[in-house]
Amino acid sequence: MAQFKTKHGYEGLLIVIEGTDGSGKSTQLQLLKKSIQAQSYGVIISEWKTSRLIANVIDDAKERNLLNATTYSLLYAADFADRLENTIIPALKSGFIVLLDRYYYTALARDVVRGQDIDWVKNLYDYAPEPDLIFYLDMPVDVLLKRIIGTTGLNYYESGRDVGFSSDFYKSFEIYQNKCLEQYEKMKSTYNFISIDGTKSIDEIHSIMNFEVQKILDSGVLY
Ligand code: ADP
Repeated sequence: MAQFKTKHGYEGLLIVIEGTDGSGKSTQLQLLKKSIQAQSYGVIISEWKTSRLIANVIDDAKERNLLNATTYSLLYAADFADRLENTIIPALKSGFIVLLDRYYYTALARDVVRGQDIDWVKNLYDYAPEPDLIFYLDMPVDVLLKRIIGTTGLNYYESGRDVGFSSDFYKSFEIYQNKCLEQYEKMKSTYNFISIDGTKSIDEIHSIMNFEVQKILDSGVLY
């Protein structure tokens, strides 16, 4: 196991990849996991909205379009709390390197776009440990649209249709994602995001991330 001098005080490392849907987060997380594991570190990946307690409730509510802005925020915050308590913190205490697909910055962007007060959202997450590294995959909406249409297609909530920006799926996606990007833009300097151009190739992005991760790994104490 390794021990690191961390911002949150736990022995493991907390590394976050943020960005909109389709920006390449899970692709990069898998690559990072491989390169870190190859050096014999313990690594886990934890994705947004995957708690055993609440993820199914959110999926069911989304399928039936039952969420309003407040229940949307609160259910996602409950999902986060469950994962933090049962997965993320235990792994950090055991010296694991925890790779996260999105962190509370996602909630800050999406909830604010849905009309929540930013301080109210920040309070929901104010107990969350501060990550050691935050990568942000910066993607313009036009490139994102092409990628999403070519893979998963447009999704009701990811297009912000619940907010009522436009009844046209395509237009709604554009407006909603642009508003989310504006929020991410504001967070870049506040939270020290390492912002990476998401339109670069998979390999180029991986080497940038790997370089930053390696700097921290090299500073850790192995025992
Ligand atoms: P996310 O986890 O952010 O939703 P994914 O990693 O699932 O995004 O990537 C979405 C799609 O884009 C996948 O088909 C993936 O292969 C592709 N992709 C990921 N990164 C890149 C990249 N840098 N350039 C081109 N396509 C990419």
